[in-house]
Amino acid sequence: MQSERTVSRRGALGALAGSVVAIGCGGSSQSEAKNGSGGAAGGGSGGASSGGASSGGTSSGGAASGGAASGGTGGNVASCKLTPTPGCKITDDNILGPYYKADAPFRADITDGKPGTLLRVSGTVYGCDCVTPLADAEVDIWQADDAGAYDNTGYVLRGRMKTDAQGRYELTTILPGLYLNGSTYRPRHIHYKVSHPEGTSLTTQLYFQGDPWIASDAFVKDSLIMPLVESIGPSGAKEYSVTFDVVLA
Ligand code: FE
Repeated sequence: MQSERTVSRRGALGALAGSVVAIGCGGSSQSEAKNGSGGAAGGGSGGASSGGASSGGTSSGGAASGGAASGGTGGNVASCKLTPTPGCKITDDNILGPYYKADAPFRADITDGKPGTLLRVSGTVYGCDCVTPLADAEVDIWQADDAGAYDNTGYVLRGRMKTDAQGRYELTTILPGLYLNGSTYRPRHIHYKVSHPEGTSLTTQLYFQGDPWIASDAFVKDSLIMPLVESIGPSGAKEYSVTFDVVLA
């Protein structure tokens, strides 16, 4: 399964690596490293992996789709009131960063006309047994635009959604750009805050397999790296899709 992820990630993002010209949104004074308030790197819910595998991937996540039961690296299920599932791991947390804004609009398309490569994100939010879907969970997402900038005045590329009866969410966005964090670029990522009345809330980030900036990033956790699937859209333009399931404690 690991090789499947590796091939997919390298193929999808490798071609993009040379086209990045983005400069940071706010520079190091607003870097996620300095201002991240979601906890230190590696301070996940038991997660031990913070080194960030390169595109070769030493990911301990198993399923190519980022399956919930295999996606985490060290989640704590001791407090789970559901029937335990062997191998189940709570999704690792990740830093909040400085750019979160509360009260984003509820919507499934956050592109706001921004140029970029279309990206469709979908997934399922599970309870702490990794198999019970959580309906009506809130998924709050924010990300940089194609040039690596966050909208800190409005809600461009920000949005919230509720999971359906099957615990699923779907989002239309663009591939996030790169921005400087100190002397190195943060890998492309999408920020998540996920919450549910019957579960704890989780702050985390989604990364993409094959991103060459993963290896030098201090915050990436292997379990949060998912493969991009490339396709050609109706207009003939390249687009991507990615699956990111979340297991709440
Ligand atoms: Fe960020």
